[in-house]
Amino acid sequence: MNADRVALVGGGPLCVYALERLAALFRAQPPAAPLEISVFERSGEFGAGETHSGAQSPTSALNRVASQIAFAADESHPEAVALLPKSLRPTFYEWAREKFQRDGDTYFDMRPEDVPARCQHGIALRDMFGRYVALLREIPGVRVELRAEEVVDVERVVEGEGAGFLLHAVNGDAQRAYRADRILFATGPARRRFALPLAASAPGARTPCYVPHPYPLHLSLDESAVPPGCRLGVLGLGLTAIDAMLFLTEGRGGHFFDDGNVLRYAPSGREPARIVAASTSGMFTWCRPRNEKALDGSGQTHTRREHQGVFISTDVVDALRMRVGRPALIGSETVRQLDFDRHILPLIVLEMAYLYYATAFGADFAARAREAVAHAHARFLQAPDAMPVEAAIEALLAPVQETFAAWPRAVSGRESTPRFDWRAMFEPLGAGVGADDWHERVVDFVRRDNRAALEGNLHNPMKAACDGVWRDLRPVLAQIVDFGGLTAESHRRFCEVHFRRYTRMSNGTGPTAMRKIQALLEAGLIDAAVGPSPRIEYLAQTGGFRMVGELTMIERTVDVLLEGRVPVFDPAQEAGPLYPNLLRRGLIRHWRNPGPDGADYLPGAIDVNRRFHPIDAAGREIPELTFFGAPTEGVAFFQLSAARPYANSPVLNLALRWANETVAALRAAHMPATT
Ligand SMILES: Cc1cc2nc3c(=O)[nH]c(=O)nc-3n(C[C@H](O)[C@H](O)[C@H](O)COP(=O)(O)OP(=O)(O)OC[C@H]3O[C@@H](n4cnc5c(N)ncnc54)[C@H](O)[C@@H]3O)c2cc1C
Repeated sequence: MNADRVALVGGGPLCVYALERLAALFRAQPPAAPLEISVFERSGEFGAGETHSGAQSPTSALNRVASQIAFAADESHPEAVALLPKSLRPTFYEWAREKFQRDGDTYFDMRPEDVPARCQHGIALRDMFGRYVALLREIPGVRVELRAEEVVDVERVVEGEGAGFLLHAVNGDAQRAYRADRILFATGPARRRFALPLAASAPGARTPCYVPHPYPLHLSLDESAVPPGCRLGVLGLGLTAIDAMLFLTEGRGGHFFDDGNVLRYAPSGREPARIVAASTSGMFTWCRPRNEKALDGSGQTHTRREHQGVFISTDVVDALRMRVGRPALIGSETVRQLDFDRHILPLIVLEMAYLYYATAFGADFAARAREAVAHAHARFLQAPDAMPVEAAIEALLAPVQETFAAWPRAVSGRESTPRFDWRAMFEPLGAGVGADDWHERVVDFVRRDNRAALEGNLHNPMKAACDGVWRDLRPVLAQIVDFGGLTAESHRRFCEVHFRRYTRMSNGTGPTAMRKIQALLEAGLIDAAVGPSPRIEYLAQTGGFRMVGELTMIERTVDVLLEGRVPVFDPAQEAGPLYPNLLRRGLIRHWRNPGPDGADYLPGAIDVNRRFHPIDAAGREIPELTFFGAPTEGVAFFQLSAARPYANSPVLNLALRWANETVAALRAAHMPATT
């Protein structure tokens, strides 16, 4: 009997979760026919993958705590039809404890609330990958092949034995082709081709000193690419930019030291002389607060401390869709689309205000505020289009603000809590127009924000509001935006404004890394003066660049420019050959959100249905192929993250549904035909 062949393209965390599921399912019931599972990982780092490579600099931190990382489905996943025994599925924290106790390796002597380096996560992923592969290899009839090759193309083949796919893979000069019946693509973040719009090169122009992709840091940012003493421009002020900045300072031998209560930086002389950093917002992602919801090492009680929406929930969203949603045909489904600004933002602001004050003044205040706002909330849900957005926000906030004004604040010991001001919270640095003090504003905000983060996500009102609404309510946000939930125009605004806001307010890195960024800002090594929306000019005579703040009008000239942002995925723009080839062959196509008069919105993602199978150029589903992660972000959000334990983790659910479906399809193919 010919073996069934399943291929996994990408050997990072999602692949680990998928292998765990296959191991659990096949241990419960071995496959009906011989099965070959091939894992393709171009970096050769099976399990860790490129993003969480165990070989990367320890200066790159995860943005979550040790107790919030899982490798396997658990009892919180209702769709998990088989679970591995508990001893075979440690969480990251349990894995680290085990390693410390077994090997005495103090690098893994962690507390649940510690933030691991990404390489530590990678070392654990590599080990768990190995364990799951070993479990699979013990199952009769199962073979697992690890191929350190890059898949560059896939074609559909129809032969005597039926339809299938041919994967073309390369490793150096060697090229090989492999048959597969089903393929899972978990290829990680987008990587675009040279993205900078350079002026046409003049005669004698120098090669631009431009680094389009910073990873792996030790190769992309070595001293030949970013020489010691150079002026470096960084586009982006989020996790990638922070990784690069810490790698180029601490990673090059500089060190941070405590000077009283202040962290300071002692340079090594090998770092850039100055790092000019700018982004669309001109602000660093905010510091992730100390995570007080995740102190339990087992992970089992975390969700109990998470915020549950009071004014916005999946039921509220369903009701809004029925009342004011605009029907649109998305694939074969009619979706009643909402407008994020008009229908959702007022509720988000209300939820934040409520949580802000409830954190400051406790349960009695919360009960009083709920009562006070009930009428305005019901009125909004009845007619969310009745007022302009800002008026709707103010109408919803008014009863909460009145409750605050009348509240005996001194009793709670929080009398200094300022009035909730949503505009100041969303734009804490104010308008950038003509701001010649943008750098000072950034430094001042980072200082305040870092102090707030140390108070924790259950004690600091501002951090509780950001964490509780933008992070804890991600399943509600996903229900709002995923699979065409917003109108085309609103979807565009969500990607350009609100998704960035979510990232900035709730998805930054933790206090350890942000205190270092503060020290580098205070030392003047990071220069944030250019501010929001930088314009970039290529200086052909030198190979350098001029960065001009669109709002501040401040200019800086830099020798080297680094893209410090993860680009938005677009199969046509990908640097590697795989996605352009899939597009050319018609196996995938762009997803569209249909707009009025042909003004469709294309976020860049590929067209997939709710099971993440692609829709081909002819409009047909290809059920044997599945895509997760960046290629489908824009259709389905919040996928790119590590799995969490005991949280019915959406990322684990992706792997779980794929494995359930794959195993069922393989079994069905070997069932005797009934007449
Ligand atoms: C810089 C960075 C920092 C991040 N930090 C965090 C964090 O702190 N916390 C968090 O929860 N999430 C973080 N993320 C999100 C991250 O995407 C997820 O944590 C996780 O890595 C997703 O797993 P994955 O398997 O989908 O992708 P990846 O981990 O990226 O793995 C995909 C793998 O596919 C391989 N590959 C790609 N194309 C091919 C091909 N054609 N052939 C063969 N192999 C291929 C790549 O080499 C890569 O190893 C971060 C992402 C980035 C980019």
